[in-house]
Amino acid sequence: MIVVRQKPISEIVPMVTHHERVLLVGCNTCAAVALAGGEKEVETLAELLRLATSRRGSTVDFGAGVLQRQCEPEFIEQLESGHWDAILSLGCGAGVALLASQLDIPVYPALDTLFIGSAQGLASWQAECSACGKCVLGKTAGICPVTRCAKGIMNGPCGGVSDGTCELGDRDCAWVLIYDRLAELGHPDAFAETNPPKDHSVRTNSPVWDMTDTDGEQ
Ligand code: SF4
Ligand code: SF4
Repeated sequence: MIVVRQKPISEIVPMVTHHERVLLVGCNTCAAVALAGGEKEVETLAELLRLATSRRGSTVDFGAGVLQRQCEPEFIEQLESGHWDAILSLGCGAGVALLASQLDIPVYPALDTLFIGSAQGLASWQAECSACGKCVLGKTAGICPVTRCAKGIMNGPCGGVSDGTCELGDRDCAWVLIYDRLAELGHPDAFAETNPPKDHSVRTNSPVWDMTDTDGEQ
């Protein structure tokens, strides 16, 4: 799922307080599961913003609503936005972008979109994928170097690894994890194969993907 987290309130307040009527819109899919953009989080943030703005002596009308998904136009069509002069989205970047393209009022992000991740426990996520457009997990024992290596290098480890830890100190070295997993699977020799450089054109050349277009390769 897309993993998101709420921006600090000190960052959100200046974005919206020059408006008079701001509708907070949650997203009932990934953002809700990440405990950042569901009904409860929308209500809580609306209340915090009411408090913050009343302390500043300003009066902003904050409303609260939740869409099933912000990244699909059919759900955005259900939004009654006529009364509002701005939207504060508690969805991922895709939700903010689609809301902004569909509505004639400004849309602001209340969340930061972090990565595609797997659940590790309640509200705990492992970054697994950065949507690079050309998956190499078949060569790396299911561990993504683009996402889990601090430098995103395709052939590691680099000289910064120490006792299996990345020089950043905040993570295991992805390439040590890859080697260990390949060895567990009985293919440590696969580690010696050189991977080609990452082809970033796959991601940057096609901003719109039509999955129904079967005439040619995307
Ligand atoms: S190689 Fe690319 S598509 Fe595959 S998991 Fe990593 S970032 Fe995602
Ligand atoms: S130590 Fe490992 S995870 Fe850190 S940058 Fe180097 S190869 Fe990547």
